[in-house]
Amino acid sequence: MKRYEWTTASEGETILFSEKLAEYLTPGDVLTLEGDLGAGKTTFTKGLAKGLGVTRTVNSPTFTIIKEYMGRIPLYHMDVYRLEDSDEDLGFEEFFEGDGVTVVEWSQFIKEYLPDERLDITIEYLSETERKIKLQPHSTHFEEICKEIKK
Ligand code: ADP
Ligand code: MG
Repeated sequence: MKRYEWTTASEGETILFSEKLAEYLTPGDVLTLEGDLGAGKTTFTKGLAKGLGVTRTVNSPTFTIIKEYMGRIPLYHMDVYRLEDSDEDLGFEEFFEGDGVTVVEWSQFIKEYLPDERLDITIEYLSETERKIKLQPHSTHFEEICKEIKK
């Protein structure tokens, strides 16, 4: 499937972008986030949360691995950075198959557990304030969403 790209010029633009994306998400959707430290994965998740109607503040779940937020649809926010070099299965499937939207930061570390149908997101650092956001859909549902927000 085709890859879709955007450039954002500020943290606020990234949040607006992911907030808009969130409007199209449905229960059971799985999104992965790859990008270097400071690329904007957690920032992107903050916008998603906002778009899902989460009112609590979203911050990096590095020390808890999985955090759950209540919204229009629940948001499961994972940061699996600490699972590098371990094959530990923390029951990911229950989240992936659950009624919420799951977002996984550093998803490359739990590749073997990820579902086939997902939206892969890569954030690239361009400059202090600019980021390239790449969306790679892996299902028709996510392809439709990409087309819709590209309009
Ligand atoms: P990660 O979770 O990938 O480690 P964070 O979201 O925690 O990254 O941090 C991203 C940092 O980059 C924040 O300090 C944010 O203010 C800054 N930033 C600057 N420009 C952008 C942009 N266009 N999009 C997202 N974040 C940006
Ligand atoms: Mg982060």
